[in-house]
Amino acid sequence: MQKYDPIAEYTDVTPTAQIRPVTHGWRAKCLQRLVRLDLPVPRTVALPAGTVKAIASGLTVDCHGILSHFGADPLISVRPSPENPDWGGPATVLNIGMNAARHALLVKTHGNDAADALYLRFVQSYAIHVARLDPDMFEGAQPSAQALRDALRAYADEMDEPFPEDPARQLAEVLRSMARAWEGTSARLLRQAKGAGPEAGLGLVVQQMAQGIGQGISGSGVMQFVDPVTGHPQVTGRYLGQSQGRDALRRQGAIYLTRDPRGPSLEDLAPEIFADLVNHGTACRARLREEMQIEFTIEDGRLAVLDAVKVQRSSRAALKIAVALADDGIISRAEALLRVEPRALSELLHNQVDPRGPRDRFVKAIAASPGAATGRIVFSSAAAQASAARGEPCILVKRETAPEDIRGMHSAAGVLTERGGVTSHAAVIARGLGLPCVVGASDLRLDAREKKLTAPDGRTFREGDIITVDGTAGEALAGVADLLPPALDDTFRRLLSWADDVRDIGVRANADTPADAQTARDFEAQGIGLCRTEHMFFDEDRLVVMREMIFADTAKDRAAALVRLLPMQRDDFVQLFDIMRGLPVCIRLLDPPLHEFLPHSREGLRELAEALDKPLSDVTRRAEALAEFNPMLGMRGVRLGIVLPEIYDMQAQAIFEATIEIARRGATVVPEIMIPLVSAKREVELVKTRIDAVAAKVRTKSGMDFDYKLGVMVETPRAALRAGEIAQHAAFLSFGTNDLTQMTYGLSRDDAGRFMNTYVQQGVFPEDPFHVLDVDGVGELLHIGAGRGRATRGDLTLSICGEHGGHPESIAFCRKAGFDYVSCSPYRVPLARLAAAHLALTDRVEDEMK
Ligand code: PEP
Ligand code: MG
Repeated sequence: MQKYDPIAEYTDVTPTAQIRPVTHGWRAKCLQRLVRLDLPVPRTVALPAGTVKAIASGLTVDCHGILSHFGADPLISVRPSPENPDWGGPATVLNIGMNAARHALLVKTHGNDAADALYLRFVQSYAIHVARLDPDMFEGAQPSAQALRDALRAYADEMDEPFPEDPARQLAEVLRSMARAWEGTSARLLRQAKGAGPEAGLGLVVQQMAQGIGQGISGSGVMQFVDPVTGHPQVTGRYLGQSQGRDALRRQGAIYLTRDPRGPSLEDLAPEIFADLVNHGTACRARLREEMQIEFTIEDGRLAVLDAVKVQRSSRAALKIAVALADDGIISRAEALLRVEPRALSELLHNQVDPRGPRDRFVKAIAASPGAATGRIVFSSAAAQASAARGEPCILVKRETAPEDIRGMHSAAGVLTERGGVTSHAAVIARGLGLPCVVGASDLRLDAREKKLTAPDGRTFREGDIITVDGTAGEALAGVADLLPPALDDTFRRLLSWADDVRDIGVRANADTPADAQTARDFEAQGIGLCRTEHMFFDEDRLVVMREMIFADTAKDRAAALVRLLPMQRDDFVQLFDIMRGLPVCIRLLDPPLHEFLPHSREGLRELAEALDKPLSDVTRRAEALAEFNPMLGMRGVRLGIVLPEIYDMQAQAIFEATIEIARRGATVVPEIMIPLVSAKREVELVKTRIDAVAAKVRTKSGMDFDYKLGVMVETPRAALRAGEIAQHAAFLSFGTNDLTQMTYGLSRDDAGRFMNTYVQQGVFPEDPFHVLDVDGVGELLHIGAGRGRATRGDLTLSICGEHGGHPESIAFCRKAGFDYVSCSPYRVPLARLAAAHLALTDRVEDEMK
């Protein structure tokens, strides 16, 4: 009856056969391409996923039919061929067809040793992978006649039957076990984690064995044409005489491929074969449009190419390879862009822990700022500064950092904090500075007084001990780690300039200092989208004046302190405008509660009392009076501007005078002034009136005219809801999604790190909303704000400047919502430029397919 007929659906891999990756898998398709290139590929038969699925469900395949493709005494291998190489698959089985008769034949052609070695290898892999016997019984035996006899006996004892002699039965069992392995739960979970769908099938590839064992030059090897870590063109790989499969990478005795002073090479041994291999590699690269690793064998001087797989590569190598393929005209620039993962770029901007080196991790926490640095532990900002003064790199380890640690952070090579999340102070500042940073390491026990750090495994570290912070992985490592330097070379820049040619949303940087602005320019940001001016007041000389201003008893005293701050602020803005050379600069007026500028220790308060020439009790009382229960919801942002308007007046004057200074130097700048933490239209009216008045005064005094734009930072839910009326007085709205997330959820951005893991693990939040924009909730507010704002003012500029601005998902959201630009930490600018290009390119492809 028809239904008992063995399945006969398989295909000879010829240049014209119908082979498709979705049915036969990537390997079968790749082998067909190699065949079309006329490469010496041994005869191959491909089983489609439908056939393999049927085998797994118990049907039999026509093994005699398959074997008939391989001559009278077939010796074959079976390899997995899923649609995507990343989806894994069962282990390859070599030498199917070995039995006593085949062994006798091999003895004649290849000698006893070779015949024993091949037979033993087959018995071992059949016993382990097909019969699923205990690997300990079969692994590790050195090939010999005795080892072969032992293995055959062990098999017969365990299975209660002799080792199968019939090649058709051997093949049927191999196919069945590989088909079943694919259906197993762990294999399914593994491939689904790599993006495979629930229905993803497995193709199988049956191939004539090319021996690699013989009398003349015989062996096997693996060859590729780029360095997998750097991506530089370079023949890499190994060759091992009298071997099979990937032995050359695993076993002792392998030799180099190219001529090498360190030892013998294939190029010396067989220069013609080596030259053929290089030619095959070049053809593969051009036709498969990819850097491939070639698996080859040589049998009595005859070369065979068995397989080609995409070269495994680091992020930096991926970028180099994509750009080189585009430069050689093999792929388009658009394709090169799409082949580089935006997130991988941030790895190229900083030192990275070399994946090839050892790593001794003592804690895992939140990866707050990428890169890696090694240094001696310090437990205070003062110690960090002292260490920097001695020229010794240090890692600042603190419970958490505060604005007064800014100088300590500048002095440190890396930062590790016990508390905090991705938008806490340490994280935001470290990203801005490009410092590797790990936060929220709550498994650590930190004793700042004893200057001692205890790891979860009980190890203790003291001040001066050397550790490495890996901010990319979110780990701290004991001791020194091997580091790879950044890869900001010409290749990197060219890829990003291609990205700029296609993207359709602007990218600016959040930059507070001239150094940040310079980084922003180096990464080719299109301006500054957020300059947090408070960071300009934390330098020691300014902090004293700032504190005098805060402690002023009268408006007159306050004015006197502000007059001293004015030229400092003006210089800051002149420098920023100068560095940005005509690109837009958006300056946010003072935002944090004044209490943040005060010392937090008794010692600090005493020093302040001395500096202000006031009794300590006075200073302490005033500091206590400024403290608030909920400072993040207290007197900060525009509320300061309304209650103490002189501060914003001074800042506006400094901005306008800097604008004039730049104009005198022959350049033009149109500053953008942004009001933080707005929640009501009236706040904007009040501030605008005063700023307009300051502008008028500066114009009159200088006799020069200038333009400026006034905008609002939307970071309270009410500002988003009332954006329609707020936009009457605003040329732009910039969404501060850090505070907006904090206030929408009612979730402290500085404390959420403590329970965020639990929340994410239990599926309460799909992701940390401070990290990945919550498009459902906060996103809805963004939509409402943007829509209502634009309804009032069609030319309203819209942007995002929270930490989300640099994330591909948020960029996609903002682009769809019609935003003009995103603004992110300078070090995320390259990633944002590439992510924006990906979005534009994918849209283009989708449009073309409609
Ligand atoms: C924000 O709240 O999103 C923002 C950019 O401002 P900050 O992080 O300085 O509060
Ligand atoms: Mg904010």
